[in-house]
Amino acid sequence: MTRDLFFFWWHVDTAGYVAERRIPTEDEEQLVIIRRPSVELGRSSYRPIREETGLFRIFANLDYEDSAQITEFANSYGLLGEGVFIDPEGGQGALEGGELFRTWAKEIDHMQRALRLWDCVQARDNESLKQYIHWEGTRSVEYQKGRTRIVIANEDSNREYLDRFPPGDVSIPAERLVQTVINKQIDGRVSPRLLWDEGGTKLRLYLVPKNLVGAMWLQFSQAVDGNIQFLVCPECEKPFAVNKSARGKPRIYCSASCRSRAHHKRSTGGKQ
Ligand SMILES: [Zn+2]
Repeated sequence: MTRDLFFFWWHVDTAGYVAERRIPTEDEEQLVIIRRPSVELGRSSYRPIREETGLFRIFANLDYEDSAQITEFANSYGLLGEGVFIDPEGGQGALEGGELFRTWAKEIDHMQRALRLWDCVQARDNESLKQYIHWEGTRSVEYQKGRTRIVIANEDSNREYLDRFPPGDVSIPAERLVQTVINKQIDGRVSPRLLWDEGGTKLRLYLVPKNLVGAMWLQFSQAVDGNIQFLVCPECEKPFAVNKSARGKPRIYCSASCRSRAHHKRSTGGKQ
């Protein structure tokens, strides 16, 4: 039997979240996302890695300039866990916790770029990769998108890789960049821990993300590592992971509840 290597629960405040212009401590006023002021203190918990196998793709699909989309994501899946303190409204009372939209924007942007490269590598779409991966001669290769330029390898940096990249090849340098980005993102955000297994009988080694954004990068790394394909559920339209080497009938729906909802609709002729 396979064992879940990851241990991670996350929570969503039942009151939800709102976008507001506020002053983070020792910073200037800006757009932040905070818990909706409410007397309700409830939280719901879920296991993102197990229950939402395509969450990092949903995250990467967000428009990072759209605060409404980001707030909607937070209302469904919680905050990223990269919080700051925010001065209370009117300067009275205790500091509040919240997250900066610019943090969200930066994380979404990083995930989008890395995922775009990875999807092109997987699809062997070298034509698209050539938009981002540029060779200069045979001893320098860079990533370029807009104003962002990242050296993947040249005589001064990562020189040893030049011997492994066939000159002009865009796929291996792209993979190399995806590897670097993911490793940087999970560094300090995911820790190995010995924990009791689900039966509470034995200590086992688990990988434990520190927060939601760490869990999503871990999900991405798992997709790179494994023979995983992502499908979109025809019922709820969310992406979810399937194991490409699994035997038997391929899965169509993300979950048992979506499957039964779809079957129910079909058997009642689309009427609810
Ligand atoms: Zn579904």
